[in-house]
Amino acid sequence: MSWNDIAQKGRVLIVDDAMENIQILHHALQDEYDVLFAMDGAKALLIAQNQLPDLILLDAVMPDMDGYAVCAALRASAVTRDIPIIFVTALKTPEDETRALDAGAADFISKPVNAAVVRARVRTQLTVKRQSDVLRALTLTDGLTGVSNRRAFDEKLQGEWRRCARARMSIALILVDIDHFKLFNDHYGHQAGDACLQQVGAAMRRAAMRPQDMVARYGGEEFAVLLPQEDLAGAEAVARRVLEEIAALNIAHEHSSGCRQLTVSMGVASEMPSELTDPGQLIKAADALLYEAKARGRNRYLTGAKG
Ligand code: GH3
Ligand code: MG
Ligand code: MG
Repeated sequence: MSWNDIAQKGRVLIVDDAMENIQILHHALQDEYDVLFAMDGAKALLIAQNQLPDLILLDAVMPDMDGYAVCAALRASAVTRDIPIIFVTALKTPEDETRALDAGAADFISKPVNAAVVRARVRTQLTVKRQSDVLRALTLTDGLTGVSNRRAFDEKLQGEWRRCARARMSIALILVDIDHFKLFNDHYGHQAGDACLQQVGAAMRRAAMRPQDMVARYGGEEFAVLLPQEDLAGAEAVARRVLEEIAALNIAHEHSSGCRQLTVSMGVASEMPSELTDPGQLIKAADALLYEAKARGRNRYLTGAKG
């Protein structure tokens, strides 16, 4: 869940085997939300996985796969686990209600539905969802620069490592460190240093543009760019763009080596992940190359591949 997703109009998926019911719910919600619908459980799971609705209105009784089975399948997938579900059903006993809540439903609406009740219940669940999305995004964002933080990076690296191993695709990492940043702070002050970090973060986001790419603040004045499904040549192209974007910022740095402009050094590494290895070697390799880039005069990247 990104900040962009949070800002979007809510998206509601209606699942019901009767078109008439879908029409009633659609009519109740269409003014406020983007509405998707599915007429059976299998279709509902597919749409949920691919379109990531913010909320699902789920009919309990359907042929083939009923609402409880759909609910269990949604809960079993990491992608759809946190989507709130409201059961909509003609079943009315306390047992039915308990069963829906036990299956992981957030709420329960009885048929025949009342449009005002549906709107109120949906609004409540979406508010709760939005608040928890904002909190989660905050725990994964670096407060100063707005790029991902170290925790988000560690989570994504683990996940992408396994995903790329299964897909037999390489993964690349760029470690970026600002050159002579201590001297920058000493000369221009810590506040100017902070502003500089913000500009560098934004510049790196412009350089790594694919949706799966992640720019993270790795440590104080060190950033990481994670490039899933990217080989060394692709990562090198990103590193080149980082150098260009940083140069284009044209930030004066009186005490930098050579050009008197703020510069960065980078280590660029890629690896074919396997389910038997962990990303530790990839980080080590990028780190060693970064160290070497510093030793060779800074304002450059060095590359290396393994596997
Ligand atoms: P090198 O070229 O070898 O990387 O030298 P350097 O001076 O950049 O490296 P060093 O590790 O000696 O210093 C890093 C500096 O980054 C020191 C620290 O004050 C500064 N720094 C780290 N985090 C922040 C921050 O959040 N804000 C500001 N303004 N400065 C920071
Ligand atoms: Mg540095
Ligand atoms: Mg450093």
